[in-house]
Amino acid sequence: MDTPVDRTGAPLSLITVHAHPDDEASKGSATVARYADEGVRTSLVCCTGGEAGDILNPAVDTPEVRADLFRVRMQELENSAAAIGYSAVHLLGYHDSGMPDSDDNARPDNFWNAPIEEAVERLVRLIRLERPQVIVTYADDRKFYPHPDHIRVHEISLPAFEAAGDPRAFPSAGPAWQPSKLYYTGFSRSRVQALHDEYVRRGEESPYTHWFERELPDHAERFTTFVDVGDWLHRRRAALLAHRTQVDPEGFWMRLPDDAIRRVFPWDEYLLARSLVDTGVAEGDTEDDLFAGARADPPDPRPSGLVRRSGIGSRG
Ligand SMILES: [Zn+2]
Repeated sequence: MDTPVDRTGAPLSLITVHAHPDDEASKGSATVARYADEGVRTSLVCCTGGEAGDILNPAVDTPEVRADLFRVRMQELENSAAAIGYSAVHLLGYHDSGMPDSDDNARPDNFWNAPIEEAVERLVRLIRLERPQVIVTYADDRKFYPHPDHIRVHEISLPAFEAAGDPRAFPSAGPAWQPSKLYYTGFSRSRVQALHDEYVRRGEESPYTHWFERELPDHAERFTTFVDVGDWLHRRRAALLAHRTQVDPEGFWMRLPDDAIRRVFPWDEYLLARSLVDTGVAEGDTEDDLFAGARADPPDPRPSGLVRRSGIGSRG
């Protein structure tokens, strides 16, 4: 397999920035598996240790696990990253910030209480090390999911994207490298509706019912990019199940089989938030490749491309 390269001949590289161990499994993991299989270098930046998380799987809720949650979650993270196929896992090194008004939220060593400039510099250092063309991070979703660590991931990512390419910024954090594209990961309204409808059709309780009661984020209607991950859904499932403390294998989130997901919504969707390259995508059309406009040679088109272009663009 030839290593795919960008227009300057540099190897393609993708960084995803996530708040907690398990976020890398639940958001965009099948996309990373797909690019890893293509030979793209894939790096995960996990900003916190997830120490404030609850144990959501009764089968592993024991005093021993509770007493050592950081170590347990680090092992889960390693197993998940291996299932996805990540080339590297980097910890940004902060404690979980917990939810507002919790004890964890008052800790001086948490992500939320760290100086933003310091967190940006740590991320810049990793960007300059991994030299990604593409960074995947979070939108400002605080109205939908107000976890401080998720908000902070959003807040540091664009400044780090800009600063990484500026040799005057953080000169001790390595030689400048300018990424080309910044994406937000998330769930489109069409995904939520398609999966919800499938649960209902199968006579299962839908975990998305409550999502319709909360308002979905504005950008749920504005996704620009749909990556076909139908052949990589099993890697997403394996990654989720690796987070034993966070994912109950019997829970309703895991109840929709991959072949059903593949039939009703075989994509990971993204919002292109910043691009320094011409993506070559016509106005109103959607991208099907995070590296569109950055790679030297586009991959062979897949037969499902026709479905992507005519189907999803119109449904938003
Ligand atoms: Zn999280």
